[in-house]
Amino acid sequence: MIPLEEALRRILDNLPSPATETIDSRSAHGRVLAEDLTATSEIPPFNKSAVDGYAVRSADISTPPVELRCAGESRAGSETRGQLGLGEAVAIMTGAPVPRGADAVQMIEKTRRSADGSRVTILSGVRAGENIIPEGSEASTGKVVLESGRYLGPAEVAILAIFGYRQVTVFRKPSVALTATGDELVEADQAPAPGQIRNSNAPSVAAQLKLLGLEAEYLGIASDDRAQIKRVILEGLRRDVLIMTGGVSVGAYDFVEEILREAGLEIIFSGVAIRPGKPTVFARRGDRIVFGLPGNPISTFVSFELFVRPALGRICGLAAAGLFRVQGRLSLGVGHKSERTSFIPARLSWSQDGWVIDPLPWKGSSDIIGFSRANGLLILPQDKKAMAEGERVEAVLLPDFWQRLTR
Ligand code: AMP
Ligand code: MG
Repeated sequence: MIPLEEALRRILDNLPSPATETIDSRSAHGRVLAEDLTATSEIPPFNKSAVDGYAVRSADISTPPVELRCAGESRAGSETRGQLGLGEAVAIMTGAPVPRGADAVQMIEKTRRSADGSRVTILSGVRAGENIIPEGSEASTGKVVLESGRYLGPAEVAILAIFGYRQVTVFRKPSVALTATGDELVEADQAPAPGQIRNSNAPSVAAQLKLLGLEAEYLGIASDDRAQIKRVILEGLRRDVLIMTGGVSVGAYDFVEEILREAGLEIIFSGVAIRPGKPTVFARRGDRIVFGLPGNPISTFVSFELFVRPALGRICGLAAAGLFRVQGRLSLGVGHKSERTSFIPARLSWSQDGWVIDPLPWKGSSDIIGFSRANGLLILPQDKKAMAEGERVEAVLLPDFWQRLTR
């Protein structure tokens, strides 16, 4: 049994080297950039008005109010035309080019147009440059605007569009196979016979993968039979990553680790000092990796979040894909007998004094129903027996934390 940090270090040391691919930028959202992208033009491409109003010479309005002659209009989408003369103003819309000769825009709310439209009174003065976004002030041609390693979220996708990038090079997503092992398992659409239960781990792991933007190829249930487990491992090794659940503990029919060795995999670790999730196995053969997650539904869940998420996130190019850690005040004392670091389902909320962490009542690592209300996990470190109400403690946010906030 190794400490959590050591397990994480070994995972990162044994990941396949990242691969890249070039894709259509319209499907780039959620990917991680694997090249530096530069500005292909000045942004804005011309001196642009930030407001609806009148383009003026600021010097003309030194003693407002000042009446100016209306010398036309500049609309968004039109070219910069003409030259603003002394004592003149040009009506201008947000996003339109500022005419030559003008050095400021006064907002429409601070102006009054004459009834016949030929003149406009500027009611208060403007500084030179006011309400003008200068050409090239947001980006200048050739400068890097998105660095390799950047997650492509909504704002980054906007930047790809701004510069007309139709293709981008991103980190390749790993192919992932998923299987659940256990003689007792039937699929969710089947009626369990006496002694059987429905397989809930495959759907929960598939959903966790989806939160990472990954689609699992599901290989079905393997029973606790050496030949079947071997077959499914060999099938899974045709993908970059194989995730298995169940059969990694010390029971008489827990064959997964043994068969992984038999199939030529190196066991990088087996057993981590955490609760739940202790029997987690991580193995490797060449550039293929396998996670053997313990079968209890919460063990599977927590083990995925602690080990599989950071590993797959890293393969996808993310710098840090582990769960986000926060500190907060514990609402209720908790203890454990464990010699391992415990991860306790909790509800986190934000108060004036920071995070409040409410441990949830749950009935152990099979109780996914009790667990399902959690939006985070309270961390009870290995070297502490108990933590008191009001104590400052650490917790991690589940990856869909924001979606899990309730009113
Ligand atoms: P194991 O890790 O195989 O020893 O399983 C530990 C516990 O988790 C047992 O009670 C199993 O019945 C249960 N379990 C294993 N796999 C699954 C699964 N795919 N879905 C739901 N429960 C499971
Ligand atoms: Mg089992």
